[in-house]
Amino acid sequence: MTTPSLTTSLLRGVARKCPRCGVGGLFAGYLKRVETCPHCGESFEGVDADDGPAWLTIGLVAHIIVPLLIFLESRELLSYPAEMAVLLGATIVSSLTLLPLCKGLFLAAVWSIAAKKTG
Ligand SMILES: [Zn+2]
Repeated sequence: MTTPSLTTSLLRGVARKCPRCGVGGLFAGYLKRVETCPHCGESFEGVDADDGPAWLTIGLVAHIIVPLLIFLESRELLSYPAEMAVLLGATIVSSLTLLPLCKGLFLAAVWSIAAKKTG
């Protein structure tokens, strides 16, 4: 099987799929990476994302929450406790949604770099 392009691999990673075949799942749970692809058998041993996904998630969530905070503060639509509840909920939901996508992206990037080195 040929190695897909970096863009294809990254998109497959964001979709939480194997960066090589795009069919097998990349995760055994919410964030636990599989050792090998259940479809093509590609090994992901040594492919780790470390803290990259957490940093990217923090950066993306900040770009969602800060404009929301500015919007809510400028319009004065809600009371302070209600505003905090909305912001806390949005922070939790966006963080939990984006973290596995960012981890898939980083795993695919690391896998793609390693695949290029080995051919
Ligand atoms: Zn695969």
